[in-house]
Amino acid sequence: MNNQSACCSTQSFPIHLELPEKEMNGLPVVIIGAGPVGLAAAAHLAKAGEKFLVIEAGPAIGHHVLQWGHVRLFSPWQYNIDKVARELLESSGWTAPADNELPAGQELVENYLKKLAALPDIQPFIRLNTRVQGISKKGQDKMKTAGRDTLPFMLYVEEKGETAKRIEAKAVIDATGTWGQPNSLSASGVSTKNERNLRHHIFYGIPDIQGKDRARFAGKQVAVIGGGHSAINAILELSELNDEAPDVKIPWILRKNKVEEAYGGQENDALQARGELGSRIHHLVDSGQVEVFTSYRIFDVIKDGESLTLEGERNGESQSVQGLDELIVNTGSRPDFSFLREVRLSIDTATESVEALAPLIDPNLHSCGTVRPHGEQELRQPEKNFYIVGMKSYGRAPTFLMATGYEQVRSIVAYLTGDFQAARNVELDLPETGVCAANLPSSEKQTVSTGSTGCC
Ligand SMILES: Cc1cc2nc3c(=O)[nH]c(=O)nc-3n(C[C@H](O)[C@H](O)[C@H](O)COP(=O)(O)OP(=O)(O)OC[C@H]3O[C@@H](n4cnc5c(N)ncnc54)[C@H](O)[C@@H]3O)c2cc1C
Repeated sequence: MNNQSACCSTQSFPIHLELPEKEMNGLPVVIIGAGPVGLAAAAHLAKAGEKFLVIEAGPAIGHHVLQWGHVRLFSPWQYNIDKVARELLESSGWTAPADNELPAGQELVENYLKKLAALPDIQPFIRLNTRVQGISKKGQDKMKTAGRDTLPFMLYVEEKGETAKRIEAKAVIDATGTWGQPNSLSASGVSTKNERNLRHHIFYGIPDIQGKDRARFAGKQVAVIGGGHSAINAILELSELNDEAPDVKIPWILRKNKVEEAYGGQENDALQARGELGSRIHHLVDSGQVEVFTSYRIFDVIKDGESLTLEGERNGESQSVQGLDELIVNTGSRPDFSFLREVRLSIDTATESVEALAPLIDPNLHSCGTVRPHGEQELRQPEKNFYIVGMKSYGRAPTFLMATGYEQVRSIVAYLTGDFQAARNVELDLPETGVCAANLPSSEKQTVSTGSTGCC
């Protein structure tokens, strides 16, 4: 038998079953997700006269944003409106909200996203209540290489939970965010059976403490887990709720070594509202109303009689936090790759961000939320004409801003429509956090990049 069997033959034969380019003609660019970044992509494609379809799992435009609709953004309108979206909206008679005002999430949806989605050039091409369950190249799983780049994408979608339909696309922009996949409360990221069973006592996200969720938290012993802006928002609201019971302390559980790391740039932050969050929590901690547990690693949560106990470790010693009624978990969120199993992806192993972005945003290396301008080239995946954008492009890294996503999709649409020069010219004007280097603990200072390649 010839050992040079078929698999290893160097003989040339036509392994590429090239399909004619026109196979793709007439197919839309499919955008998954009608959040701020998905809709900005739609605006750019509409302006370019390119066929597109927006597929949104939720029942409304901005479905994820509406879930934190009561929270005020820290970036003013100036940064929250995509330039082309603004242009299209203004030419339809819309007046933009004042640049320097801070919308709540609900206002972002009502006063901007819904209006953008209602434009006649966009509205007919949006499908709500439609979830993408899987994507492949037409008739080929991930393994098959022959002719791959010339085949259209095939999206398997469910409308209102009903049987799947198939949609073909010439390119796919995944703007599905990460809000739907909250991280576990445990420091290791693993959700235990106890955590799953106690879900009715655990709120993942930012509850509307002054509004519809008031009764759930009033008069209760509530611990807040996490060290970012969402946790800070929750603590500030809880403290207002506790005004009539000043003795109630709010346990704040953080992995950070020093609570100061959570304060951010405060008055040095170019986004005043973001800076103020830091200053307000700083003040509240100093007032003694918050019981801070830094360097705390949660392993599990258990039901202890009528109350909850967090089991964990602090500075190498076992320590539990007892007597809790409710937990608010703000440990971040993670991208959903389950529907991308048949797509060839390049994802960073630590951050789960688009691989080329990781060195720009990895919180292990960067102290601040600004990022070097990046576009189509950095966001390119091994699967040709497939892009992950917006919040999801950052994976688990928490510092994404809408303005970054708007520049991402501008560059991608320029590329997809053949304007390669415009695709390469990426510019990004992001407000500084004011935290880079200056407020980092000295042990981490030397790891902060500076200059043209760093965040700062
Ligand atoms: C509380 C909070 C405050 C924030 N404040 C600011 C701020 O002040 N300034 C700022 O710039 N950024 C802010 N951000 C960060 C970020 O800009 C927002 O999260 C923003 O909504 C991200 O936009 P996106 O379009 O990438 O994703 P999302 O807004 O998350 O939209 C994704 C959409 O995809 C849909 N979807 C998900 N899976 C599927 C599927 N399989 N099929 C179809 N559809 C699907 C979802 O329903 C959702 O509507 C904040 C984030 C949070 C959580």
